[in-house]
Amino acid sequence: MRSRRLLVMDDDAEVAAFIADIATQQGYEVASACTRAEIEHAYQALNPTLLICDLNMGTIDGVQVLRYLAAEQCRAPVVLISGLGADVRASAMRLGVSKGLNMMATYQKPLRLADLEQCLASAVGGITDITFDSLVRALESRELELHYQPQIHLCGDQAGTVYGVEGLMRWCQPVGAVIVPARFIPVAEESDLIDAITDLAISQAASQLSAWRDRGLDLSVAINLSPRLLKQRALPERMETLLAGTGLQHQHLVLEVTESGAMTNIVLATEILTRLRIHGIHISLDDFGTGFSSMVQLYRMPFSQIKIDRSFVADMTRNHEAEVIVRSIVGLASNLGLRCCAEGIEDLETLRRLAQLGCDSGQGYYIARPMPAEDLPAWIEDWNRRIRETPLLQA
Ligand code: C2E
Ligand code: CA
Ligand code: CA
Repeated sequence: MRSRRLLVMDDDAEVAAFIADIATQQGYEVASACTRAEIEHAYQALNPTLLICDLNMGTIDGVQVLRYLAAEQCRAPVVLISGLGADVRASAMRLGVSKGLNMMATYQKPLRLADLEQCLASAVGGITDITFDSLVRALESRELELHYQPQIHLCGDQAGTVYGVEGLMRWCQPVGAVIVPARFIPVAEESDLIDAITDLAISQAASQLSAWRDRGLDLSVAINLSPRLLKQRALPERMETLLAGTGLQHQHLVLEVTESGAMTNIVLATEILTRLRIHGIHISLDDFGTGFSSMVQLYRMPFSQIKIDRSFVADMTRNHEAEVIVRSIVGLASNLGLRCCAEGIEDLETLRRLAQLGCDSGQGYYIARPMPAEDLPAWIEDWNRRIRETPLLQA
């Protein structure tokens, strides 16, 4: 039995064959199934290390499959694909998470080759079960490193230029596999390891930022904060200790928190976030639109920025509802005096539409994928040349 085993569940034979073909090229053993009996049989026989599932297969739907996988205590990453809108896919993803499944990604059909290749590559780990111990070893042997995704201004004189990066953690294994955070952050969050990973992210970002500064690159960096940390009253003190001596000025650090994360214990989260703001650190509300916050909470909490969830951004040029949501969030941010950043910009049309709507800034694969620190200076130079030659925001 091979170490990479993929179960494809899609009743569209052409799609299933396409996925199987690419996966086989990447060394996967592949099984396909699209009825309940076939799926159960293939799951038991193959013991997959990755599952790709269409949401609607006629005789069985994706939610029923998720229920089955949860009952089997499946730990392998699950990818949902569908021609349905981002909202349906996002709610199916949340459902999977709430059932304890390892939900890795969701993609709109037709599937893009680049997405499929990335998801097949990142699901490969050599390690199928990420455990506390393997993660501790990875930390000790410095296999965790931040990659950086550029963020650009979309409005004003500076439109098109890079002002910052979001730091996204990667587990780079010696065998060459790169494991994405969806696979190891949840393991880290079950214990104090998430504290160590956050500390690592802050210190890597701080020293990287000063290295770039020495090369004349003036950037800000955004770091993702696990909801768990918003229960630690002493978080502001810990941030101070981490930042002391790194040369990173507080105003160049943005901490991103998710709605649900910030909202579970509102009083404590507000206290922690307010103190961080007082210390000069910016707070950004991540994945806006997918969580449970109310307008009131948004107004009470000391956010400086809202990030529009990529599920809306990805669909906005194709789906009227998604565009209405994006437009409303941009308006809301503007009315509350908050900056607004769109994530998941995958094409030029979306980028231009966001700029027209007045969204302040954005990031996404169209601009650049997250990259290792050493690649960023050359990428910025190239990007600046490209936008000089062909301005992004000309009609
Ligand atoms: P996030 O904060 O919402 O980060 C954005 C995710 O969208 C990243 O996935 C990024 O690679 C991906 N992305 C960016 N542009 C595009 C695009 O145009 N199209 C598509 N399809 N995707 C795009 P990534 O790096 O796999 O990170 C996933 C999540 O893991 C992050 O979601 C964040 O919640 C979490 N995470 C990442 N690094 C850390 C960390 O250091 N600490 C904690 N606590 N969480 C982290
Ligand atoms: Ca984020
Ligand atoms: Ca996000």
